[in-house]
Amino acid sequence: MLVDSHCHLDAPRFDADRDAVIARARAAGVTRQVVPAVTAASWSGLRDACRRAPGLYPAYGLHPMFMDAHEPADLERLARWLQTEQAVAVGECGLDFFVDGFDADAQSFYFDGQLRLARDLDLPLIIHARKAVDAAMAAIRRFAPLRGVVHSFSGSLDQARRLHDMGFLIGLGGPVTHERARRLRRVAAEVDIDSLLVETDAPDQPDAGIRGERNEPARLPYVVEAIARLRGMAPEALADATARNAERLFGLPPA
Ligand SMILES: [Zn+2]
Repeated sequence: MLVDSHCHLDAPRFDADRDAVIARARAAGVTRQVVPAVTAASWSGLRDACRRAPGLYPAYGLHPMFMDAHEPADLERLARWLQTEQAVAVGECGLDFFVDGFDADAQSFYFDGQLRLARDLDLPLIIHARKAVDAAMAAIRRFAPLRGVVHSFSGSLDQARRLHDMGFLIGLGGPVTHERARRLRRVAAEVDIDSLLVETDAPDQPDAGIRGERNEPARLPYVVEAIARLRGMAPEALADATARNAERLFGLPPA
């Protein structure tokens, strides 16, 4: 029984065959999925997608790669939305210093607002930090105590350990299946198992077996197998441990 801790099942790329994608995930043992939002306009569609299928759990937030879609009033909308709708986390939020022409101040405005909201509402966070792990950690520290996950983690083992001390897990997905990802694979092999979540980030970040294709949650077993092999443990044991970590962080009901 696997938990995909991060997949965008509400994405338009799944509109044509969403039910089949969910059915394939279930057949592959992926019984629960956390689905984070990207923009305010997506929240109601995401909620409806999660209502239609059991095992889908929504998170609501404002993603740093969609800055053009956000306006300051979205933070107040998010506060109201989170108080009236069921949500397992605030997110996806964070910092992305890789996108062309990024505006760090504007990203921080929305990120800080969502960190504050998570603290006030006592919700975990789903954080995107690309070329920005240190900056994200500094922001988390300013609003501590907080808890959550840095998804698609790309930092060092030392950063992963410091995040764990701050109440944050790391999410690993498709990139860890690529043999050239040496630093990431070392993190996967050596980090404390209590700080590990697995994810697909579907439709993005396909694993090495489906390079360049649309990713989907049914591919999660390949991520689990790659990490288990690196750690010298059975895939079933890793699936179990990461499912329990997800249950604990997001308050998911048992499968
Ligand atoms: Zn994402």
